[in-house]
Amino acid sequence: MKIGGSIVIIMATILSTSTSWCRSALAFLPASPSSTSVSSVSRRSLGSITNSANNARRMAAISSHSTLLGSGSSSSINGHSRSGSAMAAIKPARFSINTSSSRLFSTATEEETATTTESPTEIELPTNDSDLTLLKIRHTSAHVMAMAVQRLYPEAQVTIGPWIANGFYYDFYFPTTTNSTTGEVIPSRKLNEDDLKAIKKAMDKIISADLPIVREEVTREEARRRIELINEPFKLEILDSIQSEPITIYSIGDDTTTSGGGEKWWDLCAGPHVERTSQLPKKAIALESVAGAYWRGDESREMLQRIYATAWKDVNQLKLYKKRMEEAKKRDHRILGKKLDLFSIQEDAGGGLVFWHPKGSTIRRKIEDFWKTQHLEQNYDIVYTPHIANLDLWKTSGHYDFYREGMFDQMDVENEIYQIKPMNCPFHCLMFKDDIRSYRDLPFRWGELGTVYRYERSGTLHGLMRVRGFTQDDAHIFCLPEQLQDEIVGVLKLTQSILSRFGFDKYELMLSTRPSKSVGSDEIWDAATKALVGALDELGWTYGVDEGGGAFYGPKIDLKIKDAIGRTWQCSTVQCDFNLPERFDLEYVSAEGTRERPIMVHRAIFGSIERFFGILIENCAGDFPFWLAPVQMKLLPVTDAVFDYCKDVAAKAALLGLRVEVDRGNERLAKQIRNAEQGRIPIMSVVGMKELEEGTLAVRSRKLGDLGSFTVDDLLAELKRCDVAAEEMTMIGTLPENNEGETASSE
Ligand SMILES: [Zn+2]
Ligand SMILES: [Zn+2]
Repeated sequence: MKIGGSIVIIMATILSTSTSWCRSALAFLPASPSSTSVSSVSRRSLGSITNSANNARRMAAISSHSTLLGSGSSSSINGHSRSGSAMAAIKPARFSINTSSSRLFSTATEEETATTTESPTEIELPTNDSDLTLLKIRHTSAHVMAMAVQRLYPEAQVTIGPWIANGFYYDFYFPTTTNSTTGEVIPSRKLNEDDLKAIKKAMDKIISADLPIVREEVTREEARRRIELINEPFKLEILDSIQSEPITIYSIGDDTTTSGGGEKWWDLCAGPHVERTSQLPKKAIALESVAGAYWRGDESREMLQRIYATAWKDVNQLKLYKKRMEEAKKRDHRILGKKLDLFSIQEDAGGGLVFWHPKGSTIRRKIEDFWKTQHLEQNYDIVYTPHIANLDLWKTSGHYDFYREGMFDQMDVENEIYQIKPMNCPFHCLMFKDDIRSYRDLPFRWGELGTVYRYERSGTLHGLMRVRGFTQDDAHIFCLPEQLQDEIVGVLKLTQSILSRFGFDKYELMLSTRPSKSVGSDEIWDAATKALVGALDELGWTYGVDEGGGAFYGPKIDLKIKDAIGRTWQCSTVQCDFNLPERFDLEYVSAEGTRERPIMVHRAIFGSIERFFGILIENCAGDFPFWLAPVQMKLLPVTDAVFDYCKDVAAKAALLGLRVEVDRGNERLAKQIRNAEQGRIPIMSVVGMKELEEGTLAVRSRKLGDLGSFTVDDLLAELKRCDVAAEEMTMIGTLPENNEGETASSE
């Protein structure tokens, strides 16, 4: 669709409407064949179409779990829905760094966190999850917007209008119309910026009119009759998709309404809403953009026009949100990824498939090396498994029945059907089964950087955040019931240890308990849930509880990290599983000689390496810490005579595992310096004859400015120390006495 001359087609804004990346973490099984998976719910339609309280809560869960530009990971990593309330009981935060209802806590000391509250990015914006009033404002605003659109453009047909992470959207269909006098066919309207202004004005008028919002229960037949009367074909489809009765209708304005421009307007909806339009904070609502979206996300159906809007409780929140969006835009990992030559997505290869360029690969290697070292230190074994397997394996695991929509098509291998893997879990089960296991052998901790492939609609793909092929930092722990708590403690500690290395030391934790539909005995659920709670308490970590929000196969803990500009991202998860051991008939021999089922724990810390890399890029705005920087130091030779000297330094550095690059020196020094700056290289050194003669280097830190001169050996030793300790270089050099060498600052 054309807006302001440019073509914009977005099927679903990834971050706001998509389900969460959760599925990238460890996705396993959906709850049951009959339940709607989170992904299919969100793909199909959100918000206003549902008609049961549970669904409404689930919608809240889904939308609130995706943050714009964020992850949204719903706490279900398995594409299955949460039956529990999203507004779950939250324990009071012990280390809360803010006064809102956020469950964020920091591993920093209280004094440290006290100082960080000064930063504007630390101010918490409420979420749909934490603030029911906000959710009502957003949801009611969506209806008011639809009402305004139909007042201005009577031909517009309404479809769906859910709340999303930072506001809401509504999708409209604009048919072609016919001029009643000339009979001329008028092409369908394309909304533009001016239309958005007009729509907002009409919304404000409806808000000012203080119209009541009235709920009404009707039978399916009555709903159908009314929809047919106003000719809203999409609403009929929505009605057909609603399973439960009665059907609820919400009207804005009632029969007594005479102000506000006339007749009442209604929509099929499950709520919740505010009571009167005047409760909507006009100044905290802003219409943001228009994008194309296919009905039901289906390319073969009508192209709709989606209006995105943001809504908050007051104008200050809106201002803060806008500021944050600007900051986020500057950090967009897709732009930085291109600028810093880190990665690409090649259209020739297909969407959602990531090419790691040398510089991005260097960072990935550093991440993976660190991950491996940490795991080995915690007595994990690191394993590798195949990328494809006989389809029967996926039938045994249940994925073929319950997760097929997320899997790529099968392939034929010598008349057997094979499947490319969407997850690693079944492979680890096979390995467990490969021998007779004794209670003495347990626990097994098997980690794998396992690359998986999952089908995602092309319209939902987004940079590194939502892709079709990605590497999970997966691990499965097989343990005895009595080992569970210690294992969970181990996982949580390891998670903290790994994430804090990347500067993420503020977390939001959610414990999800048994849903109504589940497998496993009461006994095992109780024991496992106790173990999770026990682990959290042992560590003294604050957490929220999502009652009934666990997977059908076991309780779990999800962890979100908070980034430098206050966004939260779902990354880590640890989930107990009583189902796969059953399906694969996993056993160990107990001390009494009986055959028992082990408990299986799925866990991931980054979730997906690709997505974590995206988060990392945005968190540091491309300014990677010294230990991760693809090029740690750049040498800028001022004359050809020092080129070999520079090369020697770089070679020496390489032997120490440091990454030092020599500028080819083809450009003026000022340009070389600028290039190094733009490449976000932490340390640079301008090298002249003086340095060559003295065997020294004068270094300049990108963050701290001039650090003085060092002998080459001293400098490399210090850089190595910083690299190993993951520190920035801060040491001021002492050599030589007469420090007049040409440095970056002298330029
Ligand atoms: Zn509604
Ligand atoms: Zn797993």
